[in-house]
Amino acid sequence: MAVKEGIFRYRVITNLNCNMSPNCYFCYQPYKPNMYLDIEKAKDTMRKVGILKRATIMGGESTLREDLPDFIALCKEYVSQNVCLVTNGILLDEEKILSYKEAGLTEVAISISSLQQYRDRREQALLCKKVGLTEVAISISSLEQYHQRRNQCLLCKQYISQYKN
Ligand code: SF4
Repeated sequence: MAVKEGIFRYRVITNLNCNMSPNCYFCYQPYKPNMYLDIEKAKDTMRKVGILKRATIMGGESTLREDLPDFIALCKEYVSQNVCLVTNGILLDEEKILSYKEAGLTEVAISISSLQQYRDRREQALLCKKVGLTEVAISISSLEQYHQRRNQCLLCKQYISQYKN
C-alpha cells in the first residue's frame, strides 16, 4: 500500500484519564472521564485511511493502559516512518519501555513543566535512550524554561536539534 501524501500523521488518543490529573495547571483537557479507545475501531479507521508517515500516541496518559503495546503495533503497521509516544513518563520502567520498543515504538516525548518534573523524569528519559529509542525529547513549555534548563538537561541538545531545521 502506498504512503498517503497530504495527511502527515495519525494522532491516537488511547484514553482520556491521567495519573497526574488534576495536578497539571496547563492541561489542555481538564475534564478526564474514564474513556478508552476501542482498538477494533482504531483498526477500522486505519484500514480506511491507509499508510501515513507517522503516528503519535497520546492521552490522557497512555501508559496507564496494559494493552498499549497492541496500539503501538497497530500504528507500526500503518506508518512508513515513526511511532511516537507522548507521556508524562511517570510509569515508565525498563520492562515497559522494552515492551513498547518491541511492539514498534521509535520515539518517546516526555512532557516536563517544572524543574521538579525534570528531576523526577530524567531517569525514565535516560532509560528510553538506553534501549535505543533514539528521539527521546523532553518538551519544555516556555523560552524561560529553556534558558533555565539548558545546562542541566543531557537531552536538550537532541531536543534543540529537532527544532533548528
Ligand atoms: S500529564 Fe499531560 S494529560 Fe496528564 S494532567 Fe498533565 S498535561 Fe494533562
